[in-house]
Amino acid sequence: MTETPSRTLDPTRDVALLTADLIDMESVSGNEKEVADAVEAALRALPHLEVVRDGDSVMARTSLGRAERVILAGHLDTVPLPAVPGSRGTVPSTWDGNVLYGRGATDMKGGVAVQLALAAGLAEPSRDITFVFYDHEEVEASLSGLGRLQESYPQWLEADFAVLLEPTNGTVEGGCNGTMRFHATTAGRAAHSARAWMGENAIHAAAEILARLRDHVPATVSVEGLDYRESLNAVKIWGGTAGNVIPDAATVEINYRFAPDKSIEEAEAYVRNLLAGFDLVRTDAAAGARPGLDRPAAASFVEVVGQEPKPKYGWTDVARFSALGIPAVNFGPGDALLAHTDNEHVEADAVRACLAALRTWLS
Ligand SMILES: [Zn+2]
Repeated sequence: MTETPSRTLDPTRDVALLTADLIDMESVSGNEKEVADAVEAALRALPHLEVVRDGDSVMARTSLGRAERVILAGHLDTVPLPAVPGSRGTVPSTWDGNVLYGRGATDMKGGVAVQLALAAGLAEPSRDITFVFYDHEEVEASLSGLGRLQESYPQWLEADFAVLLEPTNGTVEGGCNGTMRFHATTAGRAAHSARAWMGENAIHAAAEILARLRDHVPATVSVEGLDYRESLNAVKIWGGTAGNVIPDAATVEINYRFAPDKSIEEAEAYVRNLLAGFDLVRTDAAAGARPGLDRPAAASFVEVVGQEPKPKYGWTDVARFSALGIPAVNFGPGDALLAHTDNEHVEADAVRACLAALRTWLS
């Protein structure tokens, strides 16, 4: 049996080349060990960092007693390699001029390379930094390495602000909308449809629910300077029992995507007020996340990046930090629309620019 010599990472080399080295260590979710080993070894070689390993997650931090602490987080895993032969978003990586192709090029080995370069290059950062490299992001939430770290090392995940280096094309994307669902039901009285005047039609009664939803103008809410566009919609409807029976019950399922200025309770009260008079049951809810751009660390970050921050509409791990009371944003190299595609790629200069912005902020 031959043993494959374990490969190493040099966090001091050009960050675009480091990205290629990371891609070359295939790490589809569940197979993060090699890259986690290499990240751990690279971090342990840096005397200014304290390092812990948990499964295939690795964390490292400075402890300089700075006034603020920031978390820089990224996941080590990728989605599976492309199935279509000839795809370039695979392993190993390839170069086409200044464009790097390979699985994870955008999501998110460029971001991980930037984390490693900062870990090696900033022995005395202006803010204390906790670097979080985690496993199992691209699979069901219950497997998330970040969720596990929050359980096992809560004290390591205390900070004033967090940056997830997910691809955002170099802009800052902050916070996210919350979401909740309701069942609104109407009651009637069943009767033979040949003698409909004996009954009461619950489906017709639901028309008023639909009319209120149709006439409702969803708000755009500014939270710390970012505009979150809300939506309130009927997403399902059912009722009735047979083709000759006046229906005695109808249900409209409603989904409300609400801005992160509202708590779950406030968002629920808003919908109940709009649909007053109807029987409403909330079936699920997940809070949004405020962008936290009013915090000093965040404000100086946005200033250094020098671009207008944007709201995030989908739910991301940013909300995990928000649940811990840590405002968080996404900021990383590469186009999120290329993530998970067969020809995933990133420009070398995009990775270098991300590193430069974070280095400026943290120096
Ligand atoms: Zn990702």
